[in-house]
Amino acid sequence: MVTTIVLLRWDLRLSDNPALFEASKKGAVIPVFLYTKDLFPRSIGGAKKWWLHRALESFSGELKRRYNVDLVIRIGESTLEELEKLVFETKVSGIFFNKNYDPLTKNLEERIIEHFTKKGLDVRSFKSFLLHEPEELRTDEGRPYIVFTPFWKKFQVECVVPKPLGIPERIVKSNVNVSSRNLEELKLLPTIKWYDEMEKCWNVSETGAFERLKYFLDNAVDSYKDLRDRPDLDNTSMLSPYLAAGMISPRQIWHAVIERYDGKLTEGAYAFLRELGWREFSYHILYHNPSLVDANLRKEFDKFPWCWDRDEGFWKWTKGLTGIPIIDAGMRQLWRIGWMHNRVRMIVASWLTKNMLKHWKLGEEWFWDTLVDADIANNVQGWQWTAGCGADAAPYFRIFNPVSQGRKFDPNGEYVKKWVPELRSLPPEYVHAPWEAPEMVLRSVGFELGKDYPLPMLPLEESRKRALDAFQQLGKSR
Ligand code: FAD
Repeated sequence: MVTTIVLLRWDLRLSDNPALFEASKKGAVIPVFLYTKDLFPRSIGGAKKWWLHRALESFSGELKRRYNVDLVIRIGESTLEELEKLVFETKVSGIFFNKNYDPLTKNLEERIIEHFTKKGLDVRSFKSFLLHEPEELRTDEGRPYIVFTPFWKKFQVECVVPKPLGIPERIVKSNVNVSSRNLEELKLLPTIKWYDEMEKCWNVSETGAFERLKYFLDNAVDSYKDLRDRPDLDNTSMLSPYLAAGMISPRQIWHAVIERYDGKLTEGAYAFLRELGWREFSYHILYHNPSLVDANLRKEFDKFPWCWDRDEGFWKWTKGLTGIPIIDAGMRQLWRIGWMHNRVRMIVASWLTKNMLKHWKLGEEWFWDTLVDADIANNVQGWQWTAGCGADAAPYFRIFNPVSQGRKFDPNGEYVKKWVPELRSLPPEYVHAPWEAPEMVLRSVGFELGKDYPLPMLPLEESRKRALDAFQQLGKSR
């Protein structure tokens, strides 16, 4: 019988998994997860390791329950070597996988195809991680895009999103006995158990992804356009970690929305699809500019006086002890559940890269370590966009004011109070700026600024001016 290895990575789902689906139609299947250094070249952050552990647990559990098939786990240095060993042991006739668009693994995928095709194997890669092919979507002049709006316009005209596949009807188990490592041997879970709150917050499974999608479509999508910027409300999908680990595909989300509205989208539904468009755009940009992982998209920013020190101020930022309530709330939310609301991500990133003048890479690396949805393209794009050196049509010298942003998007201070309990006793008008409260008010609620909660780590106006001066210098030297 024909047997195919299905190489799994960030596609840990049974439904709409083209590599698994097509392999299952050909004959027997050996699903394999390779934890090799070159497939995971940029070591995964702590929060995402936890997510990956749970994702592998639930995916392998479902494979076993539905099809009585085991997931083979291998650990190694080199993917080609590990695959070579597997091919030798199992005598398979093919290797299928779903394409990744991370520039660091693109090259490896090409080598897998070349190497094993030469050996006479049927090697195929499938599309499902993105809605578009970065190679195919081009400006009228034939160039890749660097601005979102024209990208999105063209996307809507040219991209036909294929309907998602169902789960394989059956998966035939190979009759070769293949040795596998235990999930625990990957050592993805930390030795200190800091993830209790993440366990409560997330159902890390394919079912969990679909439950979250259904909840969002039933309760929030129609008001998404108006309320998506409100961190105090549960009004965004929170599907990002599922998308990042491939536990749901973007086309499953896309078609769930289209079908629900029978093509006549509400403003909220359209705004939501547009955000999926941002994910496409992030990958488009990174695909065509692979150096962006470390380098500024706008080269003039190479001269910007960013500081690389992980000093006391930086650690205050990571711990949510800056004395600026909305920033501390965001950073604590991130630490506790591995996720932060998009609006707050922009505010904390603007504070770090502008008011604190820290290099965006420091923030990007912290997010990489602490986000359950850590995604190379979205993270780099989000940081460069906010720092001003990325793909952005808006002026790079825009600096978010954390107090007015807080008052606008968390009007009753509920978000801040949830994550920064020290501020719960304050009247709503002072939650975003406790230092503005008259002494009498603070005393009446038994609150001492500087003792119960830190004073702002930097003066807002002065640090904003310092950043503006730096931007002005940059402008002059362009
Ligand atoms: P929803 O609002 O429900 O949007 C649906 C989906 O669209 C998201 O799951 C996501 O896949 C995509 N999306 C939404 N907003 C954006 C955006 N601005 N850019 C790209 N895609 C978007 N997103 C990540 O997935 N991983 C990251 O590592 C990441 N790092 C970020 C760092 C910074 C500094 C910033 C400003 C943004 C970052 N984002 C990142 C983008 C965005 O904040 C998250 O995708 C979003 O908050 C996830 O929540 P959600 O699933 O409820 O989003």
